[in-house]
Amino acid sequence: MMRTRVSITIDTEFSIGGAFADASRSPVAEQNVWCNIKGRSEGLGFMLDTFRRHQVQATFFVETVQRFYFKDDPMCAIARQIHAEGHEVQLHSHPCWTMFAHEDWRERVRHTRMPDNFHGRDFDDTVSLLQQGIDTFSEWGLPAPRAFRSGNLQHDENLFRALAKVGIPYSSNIAVPVFHTGSPDYALYSGTHERHGVLECPVLSYSDWKVGPRKHMKALTIAGTSFAETRILLDKAQAAGIPLVVILTHPFEYVQKADPGYSRARRHALTQQRLVQLCAYLQDNKDRFDACGMVRAADDPACRDERNLLLSSPVWHSVPRMGMQVAYDRYGRWALANTKPLTS
Ligand SMILES: [Zn+2]
Repeated sequence: MMRTRVSITIDTEFSIGGAFADASRSPVAEQNVWCNIKGRSEGLGFMLDTFRRHQVQATFFVETVQRFYFKDDPMCAIARQIHAEGHEVQLHSHPCWTMFAHEDWRERVRHTRMPDNFHGRDFDDTVSLLQQGIDTFSEWGLPAPRAFRSGNLQHDENLFRALAKVGIPYSSNIAVPVFHTGSPDYALYSGTHERHGVLECPVLSYSDWKVGPRKHMKALTIAGTSFAETRILLDKAQAAGIPLVVILTHPFEYVQKADPGYSRARRHALTQQRLVQLCAYLQDNKDRFDACGMVRAADDPACRDERNLLLSSPVWHSVPRMGMQVAYDRYGRWALANTKPLTS
């Protein structure tokens, strides 16, 4: 029986912090990744501890374009630490940070249509953004990136061509419910698919309910999918011989915050529990699953699967998940309003 690789992928990024819309706000660096609350890291620190405890190797897509703003380069130490823990550090880019290359960025932001889009971006511009990431990894003393995740999961043919041109062989740019060009070539729900010389490993998309012919689709994330649903999807994927399942998450999803500046924040018990349950399940079922980095998986020729199966989770699991999520979010807002501001 074939084991299914499960790659937990973490987009590791700083936050514009509302600065584009409101000049009194500033971008947020380390706190958007570590999410320190009462001296404990409830974001990245919590994730690294959980992975270590359950022997999970993950893939961190680390954002580099923020260096246009953060001249002291706080992401360098973060990326090195992740790498030292044995995880994969791969490339993530948000083009909007290039705005800060200009003195008059406040003015420019107002006149630039969709500054964070990869879709529709000029080919050479995309190549230079990717090159900025490759150069950054080299300056950080890390192995060159071999996989890429675009900001907002946006993509077009040019992006895949640009990846091939700069020599990045793997990508995870697609989660159909998050962004879809409308082209059937890019309606990728599962498996691995070569596009313009790059092997795309989409975030798993699944259908969680359907009314008549209409299917509702979701991307497999820690923040949006209960552990009960995730387990069913993993079991189905393994039974169907899907060689690789890609799951999406972010460090800041393990805390609830009242504002982009983290003046009030608390740990997010629901998502933290989901990650722990997932990692424990993968560890307990090593005969069927291999929790490994996406590049390690994609390097194995056994990970080729162009079938593009669409899995579904039973509706009796989505309904309680939605109810619990609404209740928890509502409770979280109440609790945050009654939390003392963080001092650091
Ligand atoms: Zn991102």
